[in-house]
Amino acid sequence: MIRQYELVDRVKAYDSGVNEDALNRAYVFSMMAHGSQKRASGDPYFSHPLEVAGILTELKLDSDTIVTGLLHDTVEDTVATIDEIQEQFGDSVAHLVDGVTKLSKFELQSADKRQVENFRKLLMATSRDIRVLLVKLADRLHNMRTLHFIKGADKRARIARETMEIYTPLAERIGMHGIKDELEDLSFAELYPDARSTILARLDFLRSEAVENEVVDEISAELKELLKEHSIPVQLSGREKRPYSIWRKMQRQNVEFAQLSDIVAFRLVVDDIPQCYQALGAIHGRYSCVPGRFKDYISTPKRNGYQSIHTGVIGPKQRRIEVQIRTSEMHQVAELGVAAHWQYKQENTSGRRRFAGISMGA
Ligand code: MN
Repeated sequence: MIRQYELVDRVKAYDSGVNEDALNRAYVFSMMAHGSQKRASGDPYFSHPLEVAGILTELKLDSDTIVTGLLHDTVEDTVATIDEIQEQFGDSVAHLVDGVTKLSKFELQSADKRQVENFRKLLMATSRDIRVLLVKLADRLHNMRTLHFIKGADKRARIARETMEIYTPLAERIGMHGIKDELEDLSFAELYPDARSTILARLDFLRSEAVENEVVDEISAELKELLKEHSIPVQLSGREKRPYSIWRKMQRQNVEFAQLSDIVAFRLVVDDIPQCYQALGAIHGRYSCVPGRFKDYISTPKRNGYQSIHTGVIGPKQRRIEVQIRTSEMHQVAELGVAAHWQYKQENTSGRRRFAGISMGA
């Protein structure tokens, strides 16, 4: 479990305006309120809000949000009341905890009452303050990470389906790709364990083939060399696609795993936008572009703010490869979505309204 001072130190590390006193009081308040309650894992219940708060510190969110992470289940699951929270932690935290509690109550309703569409609407309505959604996503992420502790297979499947139907699209919509990817893979593991382990085994096999690794290294080296010739400073990474996205692609294109050649995607991170296009020019100048694979989300960002250039080329070694090109700022936004904007907000305090303006409509 994360210790009290560790949690405070983590927030301090990125937020000079940290409210240490509130964090310390929330830690104790939540621990006392949950008392001897236990999780399905046998851990003290308090470990859950604490982990949720921990996830929120990774997103570098403000003190009120971290405090809300600690308190998010106290009104729903303990004798604590929203008035008490309002008195001890102020209006902003009370408002956030209330929002998260409303969403949790809705989740508990029976499946037919709780139609997916209604729930989405509720999520959007509650999200006038986007931090409510961020806490809810962190909550769901920790619950999914610990899903295997839940005994009933039906219950696990229901939770995993709900995650796929509601929370991964939500994470996508607000641009939280890191969380979206993890939620997707955790749900995939629960719902299609056989498909997933087949894919993992195949990936293991390919990785163990020295040839495959060599190919990836050679492609990386050639791309680096090409960009160097054009004097474009770049950070290049090759990353293996995730089992879930491989599976989706197999479904979509109706292909066997053995036919899937481009299991590695290359990402180029450069300093600024002109360099993105220079890098693209260098790549398209050398290799032929695969028709239909070129997308420019820099000139036309996705609605969630995502920006990148995507292209597919017949690359080095006649291998079909996928390449993403972006600046480091775009990379931040791609991983953290609205949470990345929240960090900028901490630097220039005009913040909250900007979120209100983010496009959340259907
Ligand atoms: Mn919770």
